[in-house]
Amino acid sequence: MSSKVIRGSCVCEKIHYELTGPPITNIICHCDNCRKVTGSVFMANSMYTKENFKITTGEDILKTYDDKPPGSNNTVHRHFCSNCSSPVYTTSSGTPGSENMLTVTAGTMDLGNEAWKPSVEVFCIRRRAFLHPFDGTDKHEQMPQGLVSD
Ligand SMILES: [Zn+2]
Ligand SMILES: [Zn+2]
Repeated sequence: MSSKVIRGSCVCEKIHYELTGPPITNIICHCDNCRKVTGSVFMANSMYTKENFKITTGEDILKTYDDKPPGSNNTVHRHFCSNCSSPVYTTSSGTPGSENMLTVTAGTMDLGNEAWKPSVEVFCIRRRAFLHPFDGTDKHEQMPQGLVSD
């Protein structure tokens, strides 16, 4: 097994992390909360098991916003840099199976242009009208059962 390490950081570079192993999946989320958190038109995340993610510097300045959408059993814990505000990763609670997973923001990964491709799109019902669906993704109107992410 190759153990390729992906490194990433927030924009001020006080927080650095390492990812080992391949992601479970790469997700584009079009939901309103992800849009607000990124300040952009969708969020791009990779899902990993927690053991494959390690904060190497700056853990002490991470802050967490607990995002509980109305009517949802799931709380998304959005971990961000308190210095520069970059969203770094999310964990979630309240959904069985979510305990061992996290999602890491694709935009904070130090990758080449070709290195990241989405495999799933969720909350497509909320996709901004100017955005075309991406080629080669599994598309879901909302969050599919069994996929715990945001
Ligand atoms: Zn930062
Ligand atoms: Zn979302």
